[in-house]
Amino acid sequence: MSSKAVSIARRGLMLVLSSPSGAGKTTISRRLLAEDPDLHLSVSVTTRARRPGEVDGTHYHFISSEDFGLMVNRQELLEHAKVFDYYYGTPKEQVEKRLSAGQDILFDIDWQGTQQLRQRARDDLVSVFILPPSTRDLEKRLHTRAQDSAEVVAKRMSKAADEISHWAEYDYVVINEDVEHCLAQVHAILRAERLKRHRGVGLVDFVKTLREGR
Ligand code: 5GP
Repeated sequence: MSSKAVSIARRGLMLVLSSPSGAGKTTISRRLLAEDPDLHLSVSVTTRARRPGEVDGTHYHFISSEDFGLMVNRQELLEHAKVFDYYYGTPKEQVEKRLSAGQDILFDIDWQGTQQLRQRARDDLVSVFILPPSTRDLEKRLHTRAQDSAEVVAKRMSKAADEISHWAEYDYVVINEDVEHCLAQVHAILRAERLKRHRGVGLVDFVKTLREGR
């Protein structure tokens, strides 16, 4: 059997990961990006302050409220939402360029942003909701993630139930009891979604060559 890969042009997809904070979504996102060179992160803009270890332009573009307002007015954001007192949004330009170049994009955004993307780009969207194995586990993870103050942790815990209430709006639901297992499931979703017939813009021509015996 030949090992030569047949390459068929396809449109990129938008992989959205949402979860209540503390369900391990950041770890899953970072691992996915490190293990899949064909996946690119959509770097959001946000008005919140940079946390230790975060790099401007890599994890987020940290901008002022004034600049955020300007981006909204100029319609430069594909979606935007207020989450925990700060504004977050997805710059439009990078997304459209990557999708038409057949590149896949990972979005770490909340349910509000996912709803907006679904309205605008339903066919390109693959949405995954990550659930924690239990409320206790979620609380534990938020407490050990010492980057936020106790007040912020309490607020995020109360918001978790609100975020979880949107689970049924997603295409896939994965429980993160074990990072490796959860990661394997998301990789599997991605592999299958890349093969969806409607993404294969080069399929019609390819099948034509087969039928014509070329
Ligand atoms: P954090 O401040 O912990 O990085 O993110 C807080 C929440 O905002 C997370 O649930 C994250 O997924 C969400 N978020 C980050 N970027 C965006 C964005 O561009 N749009 C929306 N709607 N949510 C975002």
